[in-house]
Amino acid sequence: MSGRVVKVSGPLVVAEGLADANMADVVRIGEQRLIGEILNMNGDSASIQVYEETSGLGPGAEVETTGAPLSVELGPGLIESIYDGIQRPLDKIMAIAGSTITRGIEVPGLDREKQWDFVPTAQVGHKVSGGDVIGTVQETAVVLHRIMVPPGVSGTVKEIRRGLFTVTDTVAVLTKDDGTEVELTMMQKWPVRISRPYVQKYNPVKPLSSGQRIIDTMFPLAKGGTAAVPGPFGSGKTVIQHQLAKWSDVDIVVYIGCGERGNEMTDVLMEFPELIDPHTGEPLMKRTVLIANTSDMPVAAREASIYTGITIAEYFRDMGYDVAVIADSTSRWAEALREMSGRLEEMPGEEGYPAYLSSRLAQFYERAGVVRCLGTEERRGSVTAIGAVSPPGGDTSEPVSQATMRIVKVFWGLDSSLAYQRHFPAINWLTSYSLYLDTLKPWYDQNVSPDFMRNRDWAMAVLQEESSLNEIVKLVGQDALSPEDRLTLEAAKMIREDFLQQNSFVDIDNYSEGQRQHLLLQMIRRYYDLSSDALSAGADVSQLFHIPARARIGRAKSVPNDEYVETYGRLEQEMADEIEIIRKQGGDD
Ligand code: ADP
Repeated sequence: MSGRVVKVSGPLVVAEGLADANMADVVRIGEQRLIGEILNMNGDSASIQVYEETSGLGPGAEVETTGAPLSVELGPGLIESIYDGIQRPLDKIMAIAGSTITRGIEVPGLDREKQWDFVPTAQVGHKVSGGDVIGTVQETAVVLHRIMVPPGVSGTVKEIRRGLFTVTDTVAVLTKDDGTEVELTMMQKWPVRISRPYVQKYNPVKPLSSGQRIIDTMFPLAKGGTAAVPGPFGSGKTVIQHQLAKWSDVDIVVYIGCGERGNEMTDVLMEFPELIDPHTGEPLMKRTVLIANTSDMPVAAREASIYTGITIAEYFRDMGYDVAVIADSTSRWAEALREMSGRLEEMPGEEGYPAYLSSRLAQFYERAGVVRCLGTEERRGSVTAIGAVSPPGGDTSEPVSQATMRIVKVFWGLDSSLAYQRHFPAINWLTSYSLYLDTLKPWYDQNVSPDFMRNRDWAMAVLQEESSLNEIVKLVGQDALSPEDRLTLEAAKMIREDFLQQNSFVDIDNYSEGQRQHLLLQMIRRYYDLSSDALSAGADVSQLFHIPARARIGRAKSVPNDEYVETYGRLEQEMADEIEIIRKQGGDD
């Protein structure tokens, strides 16, 4: 039985005669077989969100339900793919239809022809259940794809094969407890709006190392945690997300481009395939899945892309991997939500966004976490969710920023005035925060140094002090400050310029390992402590500012990676000697 369209309003179609359909079913509409999803059912009438351009569609067109919810195909072939919001491979669609996507094209998410070398790990007679690994496929040079029993399936391995297979070929046969058989392929399907099951969630306790000093040292993100990067146009959102995609010590990156201005998405599509993974030397795409909504795609597809992306991330998590999902930008996604809500004539909330905006955002971020994966063997995986927010005019008091801030645990607030001063990354240290400091402290104590967090807290205190001293300077001028205050301002300047500023376009500086971050900040702190002692002994503060070592600390960022330990050690000693001379002179006066 099929229904008929009664009304078309942009991406929203209302159809009647769909009594046998269910909410969330995927439907095909009209001659062009446009793809849509049922948002609401009211009797036999359905409100349908259509993922394709609806122009030309009118009342009377036929609507057919597929009887299944919006799902993704999971299996070998995901990595290196570039998909649209409903997992259609963009290259394939373009090959069929040219550069503008023709409507109703049906292309499977996973290639049906390509053969993968399946290496079995389970043996005949093994009892297996959902999440158990039965074999592996070397998907790319850096990703070993673990083929798992789908959730909810269990039995005894009756047969398992080895060799080249497509994703729809049978690689194993299980005998279920009731004696019936199930054939397993390398592909599973999963409805995108439902999170994939796991055994248990843990507190995130390991940092996601990004090599970015302001992130790792000041506002660290945990693997399995959540973060948001709000920022106005030109403040460095794109650069920071690329840095995260490039340098994060995770196994897989899922990058969701939610239709920023059209050509920006094209930038990502052009640029990403050329980036090299610094950890492996392989192209970054060898560990990346890209989901892109180009500007010629209707807004509704954006709405789906977030779920498509996080479902793929969960699937790799289930294999025991650390996965990062980067969504750019959740504001565009929220706008799609607002548009649909408006057309459904729902009661609008703040600024026209639907009242369920925060719960939808929460549903996305809640799917992050460190979990014990499904399966008999103990395996941990994590999904870290990072969302960019692009508030209009950079004003974070708007609903999407506010709702996001209530959910995420890390907030890197980009600031256009810092960007204007060319202070990059333009993350404002006074408004940003990380709620993982306490849970990550033991890790830093053990793996970097017990001083790491102490130095970090010291640096934050100095920066806060700087901001209040600046207020005083504005009122009464620099001269009113005590030598101690002037030293504090100098230390703050060093923290800002010699530590926090990091140029993504300079090879040595664009990545800074944890130990290096620690030693650099330690050196600045040592300068402050020794200078402070010297001041108490009567030394002249401006002389302390002009020791040769002070300028050399400013250049310490560009010391090559294989030399920094030695160079920093030597520099710290020279600095101590130079300050000592000034301290003695002060004492003699
Ligand atoms: P947005 O995406 O917020 O509009 P971009 O990420 O494109 O902003 O950044 C704008 C410009 O700022 C970049 O082209 C670059 O010149 C500069 N920039 C941003 N971050 C850095 C950085 N970490 N190092 C050097 N330059 C940066």
